[in-house]
Amino acid sequence: MTAMSNETRLREDICRFGRSLFERGLTPGSSGNISVKLDDGGWLVTPTNASLGFLDPAKLSRLDSRGRLVSGDAPTKEVPLHTALYDTRGSARAIVHLHSTHSVALSMLPEIDPRAALPPMTAYYLMKCGATALVPYYRPGDPAVADAIKGLAGKYSSVLLANHGPVVAGDTLEAAVFATEELEETAKLYLLLRGMNPRYLSAEQVMDLVKVFGVTLPEHGHAHAPPTTERPTDAEVEAAARVLDKAGRHHHWWPKSIKSYDQMAKTDPIGKDEFEAIVERMLIAASEAKRDADDNTS
Ligand SMILES: [Zn+2]
Repeated sequence: MTAMSNETRLREDICRFGRSLFERGLTPGSSGNISVKLDDGGWLVTPTNASLGFLDPAKLSRLDSRGRLVSGDAPTKEVPLHTALYDTRGSARAIVHLHSTHSVALSMLPEIDPRAALPPMTAYYLMKCGATALVPYYRPGDPAVADAIKGLAGKYSSVLLANHGPVVAGDTLEAAVFATEELEETAKLYLLLRGMNPRYLSAEQVMDLVKVFGVTLPEHGHAHAPPTTERPTDAEVEAAARVLDKAGRHHHWWPKSIKSYDQMAKTDPIGKDEFEAIVERMLIAASEAKRDADDNTS
């Protein structure tokens, strides 16, 4: 296929997927934007103030490899979200950003782990999205949001912007769209089941997906490493909680009344696997926070 007919097809695909997302209520009004990389290093992106439901293939913004407008309407003001993911994730060929209701709702919940916004609920979620990072709230147009995405160092293909919406990269436009839909549906499941003590996939089931389908989970070093048989001591757990509290991170995972590990591991609604995973994440985060603190003082 020639470069031109390839671009023509991609323009049509952006409009087709955009309309489909809009018509299913996945991004309202003129919210949301889509971009696709082209072979010459430039990219196509949806214009500013354009509804994804009514895009015109001829009016899509055509940017060159340095992000300058070559043709079409002015690009979305959210271009920096796309640039940040493309810059740090070499394999990304398309990016979808929506203001989808359930994902936005999820982003506001107090217990959300910034490095795994959703628990391992379904195989499909893990296969399409891996883990989802949560980036804090930034005022629209604040360039710091791009820095926050870059700070994830390309480890995540799916990123949730707090009080805003998901930004998801894929190897193809279709893959990015499907992953965004999967994230939204999984967020919906999470909300449906919140407080009902659902059974998530176990560490073994997640490990099985990693082995069989090559699912990569940036955050879950424990998915590749042999599971530790040593359980952390209560003192370690409490120390981890304190370090995290001090760093202003992860403390929402921690119940208000700290109970002993064994009690916690048995206690609903968290469950043993989930609880162990939380403790593990806390210990990792605590050692990172300590390292950061050491870096700052040295
Ligand atoms: Zn947005």
